[in-house]
Amino acid sequence: MSVTHAPQTADVLARQDPELAEILLGELDRQASTLQLIAAENFCSPAVLAALGSPLANKYAEGYPGARHHGGCEIVDVAERLAVERAKSLFGAEHANVQAHSGSSAVLAAYAALLRPGDTVLALGLPYGGHLTHGSPANFSGRWFDFVPYGVDAETGVIDHDQVRTLARTHRPKAIVCGSIAYPRHIDYAFFREVADEVGAYLIADAAHPIGLVAGGAAPSPVPYADIVCATTHKVLRGPRGGMILCGSELAERVDRAVFPFTQGGAQMHTIAAKAVAFGEAATPEFAAYTRQVVANARVLAAALAEEGCVVTTGGTDTHLVTADPAPLGVDGRTARGRLAAAGLVLDCCALPHADSRGLRLGTAAVTTQGMAEKEMTRIAALLAGVVRGTAESARAREEVRDLVDGFPPYPG
Ligand SMILES: *Cc1c(COP(=O)(O)O)cnc(C)c1O
Repeated sequence: MSVTHAPQTADVLARQDPELAEILLGELDRQASTLQLIAAENFCSPAVLAALGSPLANKYAEGYPGARHHGGCEIVDVAERLAVERAKSLFGAEHANVQAHSGSSAVLAAYAALLRPGDTVLALGLPYGGHLTHGSPANFSGRWFDFVPYGVDAETGVIDHDQVRTLARTHRPKAIVCGSIAYPRHIDYAFFREVADEVGAYLIADAAHPIGLVAGGAAPSPVPYADIVCATTHKVLRGPRGGMILCGSELAERVDRAVFPFTQGGAQMHTIAAKAVAFGEAATPEFAAYTRQVVANARVLAAALAEEGCVVTTGGTDTHLVTADPAPLGVDGRTARGRLAAAGLVLDCCALPHADSRGLRLGTAAVTTQGMAEKEMTRIAALLAGVVRGTAESARAREEVRDLVDGFPPYPG
């Protein structure tokens, strides 16, 4: 096989490995022919995909630009410096680490930079939308640290700020974590900063979900308030699958050492190049408009679902996220998800605050990238409710989904 010129990925794969090529085409077809409502997903651009599939994947680059443990890093050093500079400028941060392999790796590194095993950490409890890395017993976080969970108000579904303050005063945590996989409202970072300062705790913002909205100016930034901000690059931010850490200069060295060599080996230079591409895209007025549309769509979707009879957590949303209890439509979230999947509406179940049954978690990042707007959100809510109620015949609903997505191809051509 010739390696003298860059491979035309799809063609090369079709020739070299038709079996795998078939799988990739099948997944592309699945993504294009069903509705992607998983809150953490998006469609990254062809430019991001090109960087991901580039020969930078071949390069070993342990360490940081200018201080690598491998030779031949002079070109990839430029790529990483570019990614770091773009991230710093996009988020107004003094320091950015773009090597974290995932959101979870970013959180692991943040803990490694600030904590010792056995330290007490205050974080949103898992039943209220905390992530696995916020103290799940199945995760390193729950095994190595002493997590104290805070919750949300039973009536409103909004974070119980009084409880946060009381628990902080009682337990004097070494760190407080704010951030969630499902919380649809803006987080009051100034409040968390104030409590952290009062009890002498570090503040870690796990902004994996809203960081893309922050980039586009559609959500408040945790950067001025948190000691460390952890994020993903593949959710609303629409970059490659990966993580990122932002912090002030005073923690820069500790954070960098917590990523490499403490928790990771060689940096994934193709992913870092793709992150640079995504940061460049996110700095444009088009991306800012995209994030505003993401939120506008989620608001309409939440209102339409409520209109259909679902109980929408917190009564609405400030972000791309909507969580809802479909119980009034006759089934719980798990059954609803199965019915919806059969009809081509792909979304997640989630825990519901103060309920034993599961709810539904949806997001508008992917459908908005496809170009869908308010009108389509109303249509999606009606489709969803019909399928969940069992009044819409599955094959018929599947046809309607196909009809809807056909007008919004994620990768035209
Ligand atoms: C998505 C998410 C993560 C984890 O990201 P991965 O890339 O899946 O490891 C961590 N924290 C929060 C709050 C998230 O939403």
